[in-house]
Amino acid sequence: MRGLAMRPMIRVVAAASLALLASCAARPVADSAAAPLQSGRDYHTLANVDEFRVRHLALDLTVDFDSKRLAGGAELTVERIAGTGRTLVLDTRGLDVAAVEWLAPGAAPQPLAFGVGAEVEHLGAPLAITLPGDLARFTIRIRYATRPDASGLQWVEPAQTAGKVAPFLYSQSQAIHARSWVPLQDSPQVRFTFEATLRVPAGLRALMGAEPVGGPGTDGVFRFDMPQPIPSYLMAIAAGRLEFQPIGSRTGVYAEPEIIAAAAREFADTEKMLETGESLFGPYRWGRYDVLILPPSFPFGGMENPRLSFITPTVIAGDRSLVALIAHELAHSWSGNLVTNATWRDFWLNEGFTVYLESRIMAAVYGPRRAAMEDLLGFQSLERELATLPPAEQVLAIDLRGRDPDDGVTDVPYEKGRFFLRWLESRVGAAPLHAFLQDYFAHFAFQSITVEQFLGYLDSKLLAQHPDTVTAAELDEWIHQPGLPASAIRPASDALVQVDAARAAFLAGTRAATDLPHAGWSTQEWLYFLANLPQQMPRAQLESLDAAFDFTQATNNEIAFNWLQIAIRNDYEPAWPRLEQYLESIGRRKLIVPLYTAMMKTQSGAQRARAVYARARPGYHPITAASLDAIVGAP
Ligand SMILES: [Zn+2]
Repeated sequence: MRGLAMRPMIRVVAAASLALLASCAARPVADSAAAPLQSGRDYHTLANVDEFRVRHLALDLTVDFDSKRLAGGAELTVERIAGTGRTLVLDTRGLDVAAVEWLAPGAAPQPLAFGVGAEVEHLGAPLAITLPGDLARFTIRIRYATRPDASGLQWVEPAQTAGKVAPFLYSQSQAIHARSWVPLQDSPQVRFTFEATLRVPAGLRALMGAEPVGGPGTDGVFRFDMPQPIPSYLMAIAAGRLEFQPIGSRTGVYAEPEIIAAAAREFADTEKMLETGESLFGPYRWGRYDVLILPPSFPFGGMENPRLSFITPTVIAGDRSLVALIAHELAHSWSGNLVTNATWRDFWLNEGFTVYLESRIMAAVYGPRRAAMEDLLGFQSLERELATLPPAEQVLAIDLRGRDPDDGVTDVPYEKGRFFLRWLESRVGAAPLHAFLQDYFAHFAFQSITVEQFLGYLDSKLLAQHPDTVTAAELDEWIHQPGLPASAIRPASDALVQVDAARAAFLAGTRAATDLPHAGWSTQEWLYFLANLPQQMPRAQLESLDAAFDFTQATNNEIAFNWLQIAIRNDYEPAWPRLEQYLESIGRRKLIVPLYTAMMKTQSGAQRARAVYARARPGYHPITAASLDAIVGAP
């Protein structure tokens, strides 16, 4: 349906629904951190997932850039898995729900009573729907619209796109933002198939993490089908002035015309990465693997939406030096998308495994030298972050009750999780671990699992065959204790030993910046050189480095990021214009949150941070703005 007229929200709440709404709202309060945590219970959904499961979703949405709303309908096919309750509760956040209808074959849609409960901090608001009976399987339709401030959508102004002529819309549903654009059970343990019809203004292309049905619509109508069941956090939508360029038979790039050639060159190895992934981890189960290049405001490096990874343009460096990101998102096709964390406490099963697989893809495609450098950079990043995190945030199986699950996105699930697997590999041997992982992906394919399920499977399928390789106490230390166990394997890189020697000679004054043996240094060597400079440096050394290598104007966004951190902590003001331009043009959290954090440490820095934030904030994604409001202060 096109252009659903928005009516004021109808609040028809049956008595049973009211009681349920009250209990929904009370749940997080009752779940104080002191109560024992239940493995597998999703503390970040308000939906009654123990009674009902959504099995299929049919979306029909109109993308309205003028009002910054998606409007239309969501049909949910729901299965009852327990009890005879007459109330279905779904997750929503800031949705305007106009009507809920019962859809029975051969009968006219029948309106259902529903109510939207009070907002619960971090979780949104429950939508309680009164059902007419206790059918085992049924379909309902929710007519609704999103709001302009939906936390999972960004409506990008033309000025912030590459072409600067058309607007751009994209979603970021992980962790619990799908509920801000679709009413559903927003839990990683609920998997469903979906189909969708999207209506966009003429001249724009709509995309989803799904299979397009038919060719690109010339009438602005696009259809999609997703035959594999996915969890809600993998729901993805985008619309913009987008072209497609194939890379291989199963891979390609979507991007604005201004950057598509550069993007296709940068990611030319994607098909090879996909073939490598299959040879290492088992069959690729998703059909195609394409990437979509987003505007620079995208808050993350990439998002592993099935069939269509969403990718930041900040990794288009011109020399393929930052393509480990593609290996990472692709690796999620096994760890995360195929075998999924059951709750956000189990997030490291997605991310730690994926960084481990990413490193294996990088070693296979680009050789062990580069992979070893990236491994050591990751290890150092983890060490630095652990030094700043409270103990409770240093554990893999993190307790995120009462918090926004986005708070759990630190190096801990990623790098500590990866080095857990490296450690396991060193104990049981590479070949047995690799074979175990292939079996693990096949065994739990299209399921969502907890850390306890993983440990049980590990015990019976790997450790039982390799007795006396690891102890229960060691496993407990890795998964439930803070810090990095002393038994962790520190990656070694001969190339970076050379960089250490060069840096030491420069700092001692025995080698001038212009005499550094940098011919042939890759981006990773430069990143390592910069990341390990002392916290405080003499002004003359900064000037000589900048004069020799023009770091302030570096076009590689990771190198610029490292240099700007150095500039901030040394009060190196020649970098201020570049710093401001960087913060105003990039919205990727990893690249800008540390810069703002460093600026806030001094009075003059804080002043500059607030000034640039006031200008940059309107262009940031709501997720980035939420992070920065807590650091710089909301304007
Ligand atoms: Zn990831």
